[in-house]
Amino acid sequence: MRFASLGSGSRGNATLIEAGDTLAMVDCGFSAKETERRMHRLGYAPADLDALLVTHEHGDHVRGVPVLARKYDLPVWLTRGTHGALRDDAIATLNFFDGHGVFSIGALHVHPFTVPHDAREPCQFVFECAGQRLGVLTDTSRMTPHILASLDACDALLLECNHDVDMLARGPYSAALKVRVGGPLGHLSNGQAGSLLDRLDCSRLQHLVAMHLSDKNNRPELAQAALASVLDCEPDWVGIACQDDGLDWRTIA
Ligand SMILES: [Zn+2]
Ligand SMILES: [Zn+2]
Repeated sequence: MRFASLGSGSRGNATLIEAGDTLAMVDCGFSAKETERRMHRLGYAPADLDALLVTHEHGDHVRGVPVLARKYDLPVWLTRGTHGALRDDAIATLNFFDGHGVFSIGALHVHPFTVPHDAREPCQFVFECAGQRLGVLTDTSRMTPHILASLDACDALLLECNHDVDMLARGPYSAALKVRVGGPLGHLSNGQAGSLLDRLDCSRLQHLVAMHLSDKNNRPELAQAALASVLDCEPDWVGIACQDDGLDWRTIA
């Protein structure tokens, strides 16, 4: 199994997961044209996708979903809550899941799990193939026992590090937006991501990538330091999926 990011942050998110001859994309927060350009950078085109999975309806995760799905006739997987909020009935192939069922897309076994976030029915995913586990967690306000149980003992972890608490407090966001980002249905801070990581079995962990960094309220080195201190590793062992350049392919051995 291997994975790559087209880009991650408040201006757009999209992640590629490949297992055998199955290629899936998690979220598509870029325009169709921009998605084509970014996929090409990673050696693929949208027509190569077997599935488009959606975590929740926020624009930085769905901006390109309807157009891409129609243009390339892609099956879209999402919760009924996310679909209701999207209000797009023109997608040809809809597949619904909820936070408790496991489903398969080709060689990929997908385990969705629910997260606290200000969306209708937000889920994140663990992907499994041939005994390898890849966990994806962005857009959650905090860890829950369910999230911890879902993400335990992964071989690769893509983990939200949205903001540094002090930078958010001193930063340019309005008071209302600061409350939303740091509140009970907002986003995970570097410190929260570190605490979550500290509660997981990391004995199999080969890849750790910080995701969804705010460009106004965080810096890559702060996210890397927060996660590296938990694992007692070098900060640059922690990868960063950045907004413009994403993250190149990484393979789980
Ligand atoms: Zn987001
Ligand atoms: Zn969101």
